[in-house]
Amino acid sequence: MSKLDEFLAGDRHDDVALFLTHEYLDSQGKLPNLGEEVENGYVLVVPGDDGRQAFAAGTGMDAMEFSRAAMDRNGHVARDLGGGECPDRDADENHQAEFIFAFSEAQNEDVGGLYARGEVIHAYAHCACGASYSDKWVVGEETETGVQPGESEPAHAEE
Ligand SMILES: [Zn+2]
Repeated sequence: MSKLDEFLAGDRHDDVALFLTHEYLDSQGKLPNLGEEVENGYVLVVPGDDGRQAFAAGTGMDAMEFSRAAMDRNGHVARDLGGGECPDRDADENHQAEFIFAFSEAQNEDVGGLYARGEVIHAYAHCACGASYSDKWVVGEETETGVQPGESEPAHAEE
């Protein structure tokens, strides 16, 4: 199992995952190409603190500030973190996800809702058009929770 597979299976709660397109990485040039190749770029899975530093080095943004900004809008993020669907994608522009920041949370019965169902992956994406958006889903229920392809709202009820 690769680090990314382990992360997506909810086995790496202390790590964060960063997706960057090849173009974005080349244009920024500050991050070594250490990640795993996915369809449109690569994904780096690293311990949380390193990940936040790598995110800042790779994007020039603070990971937590970016996450907070992205939280306001829902959009589908690929379950392998290899891309996403911009909520503004009807507009005539390039809407490729440039980078994605993700972390996971352990199952928590006390919190209820989505968190009682299983481990949750949180993913925050930044689009080439400038929009930011977020998705979250339960490990093992990738097609029943979170925003599905072509949709704009989560499939699960917010509780
Ligand atoms: Zn966009």
